[in-house]
Amino acid sequence: MNRRDFIERTLKTVTTASILTKVGFSEESEKKQSSWKIPPGTKVPTKKLGKTDIDTPILIMGCCQNLDPVYDRRLHRAYELGVNHLDTAQMYAEGQSHKTIAPFIKQIGDRKKLIIASKVHQTENNASPEKFVENINSSLEELETDYLDIFYMHIVKHERFLDKEFIEMGEKLKKEGKIRYFGFSAHHGNAHELMMKASKLGGGIDVIMFKYSFREMGKDNLNRAIDACAKAGIGLVAMKTLGSIPDDGEELIPWTSKNFTKIQAKLKAVWEDERIAGIASQMGNVQHVHENAYAAITPMKLTELEKQELKNIAEKTQHLYCAGCNHHCENGMQEELHVQDVWRCLLYAKGYGDEKWARYCYRDIEKYVKKLSVEHLQTAMQQCPYHLDIPRLFSSAKDMFR
Ligand code: SF4
Repeated sequence: MNRRDFIERTLKTVTTASILTKVGFSEESEKKQSSWKIPPGTKVPTKKLGKTDIDTPILIMGCCQNLDPVYDRRLHRAYELGVNHLDTAQMYAEGQSHKTIAPFIKQIGDRKKLIIASKVHQTENNASPEKFVENINSSLEELETDYLDIFYMHIVKHERFLDKEFIEMGEKLKKEGKIRYFGFSAHHGNAHELMMKASKLGGGIDVIMFKYSFREMGKDNLNRAIDACAKAGIGLVAMKTLGSIPDDGEELIPWTSKNFTKIQAKLKAVWEDERIAGIASQMGNVQHVHENAYAAITPMKLTELEKQELKNIAEKTQHLYCAGCNHHCENGMQEELHVQDVWRCLLYAKGYGDEKWARYCYRDIEKYVKKLSVEHLQTAMQQCPYHLDIPRLFSSAKDMFR
C-alpha cells in the first residue's frame, strides 16, 4: 500500500471516535519559524472597516485566552507589529478578560492608539436593550475606559436581534459616546440569513463578525450575504478562520508547502478575499503572534497547490466538522440538539487544549445534552448531510466534562 492509499484508507476510518487526541499545531510552526523574518518597524497592513472610520490591522488580537494582567508579552509584541485592534467579550477568560486588558490599555498610555471591540451575549428569549446597556456599562468599568470602538451583540442566532428596539439601542449608545460602532457576531449556520437581513436594514449595523474559513468558502448563500454586506458598507471581520476540528484527522492529509504553515495558509486564504477587513485570531503565545503576523505582512500569495491542499483538507475532514446547519439534523424535532455547541466545547478542549474554557462553555448546554435520548441523536446523525457521528460526539463530551 502506498502512502496515498494509506492516507485515504486511514481517513475513511477517522471518525469522531478519535476525538480524544489533542491537535499539536506547534511542531510544524517550529520547523518554519526561522524563516519568519519581520524587518524591524514593519507593521501588519491595515484595511478600512466598511464605512466606519476605522483602519483595522488585517490581523486582530483575539482575547479569548487568559491574559497576564501584569504584562502580557503577546499583546505587547502584537502591538509592536501593528496589531492594535483587540477583540474581547464579557464572557471571555471566564469573565475576566476586560479586567486583564485594562492594565494593557494603561501601559499603552493613549486609548486612541487602540481599537477595542467587545461583546455581550444574551439568549434570545430573555434579551432586552436594557440588559445590553447594563452589561456595556459594567464592561466599560472593567476595561477602565469611556467607550468601545465596536460593540457586538455576541453569538446572535435569532433575527429578533435585528429588530428596531436593538438597532435603536445601538444608535443611542453611539450618540451617548459609549460605543463608536455597533454590530453583532454570528457563529451558527444561519449567519448568512442574519447578514443578508442586516444588509437590507439601510443602516444601524456597522460591523459583523462571522465564522469564515477555507471550509466555508464557495458556499453560495454565504457568498451572496458577504457581497450584500460589503455593498452596504458593513465592515466584515472573520473569525474561526482555522476551521479547526476537535480531532487530528487533518494531520493525515498531505501539506507540502515550503512557504507557509497550514495555519498561515488558512489565514492567507481568508485575507485573499478582498471583502474581509480583518481576521480575529486567538494567539496563545509570542510565537503564534509571529507566525500570524508574518503571514499578514509577507506579500507572498498562496500557490495553486497550497489552495488545492486546503481544499483536500476541507473535503476529507468534512465528516469531522460541524458546520452549524442545524436545520438538517434537527429536522422534525421539537427541541434544539446543540450539536454545534457540544462540538465546539470538544474543539476547545481537544483541539485548543483549553479544557477550562471548554468546561465553562459546556456548563450552559449540559442540561439540554442530558435530556437527549440516543434515538434522537441517531436520527440526527442520519439527517446530517456530512454524517457527523453525533452519538459518539455527545458521549465523548459527557465523558470528558462529567
Ligand atoms: S451535525 Fe451536521 S447537520 Fe447538524 S449542524 Fe453539524 S454539520 Fe450541520
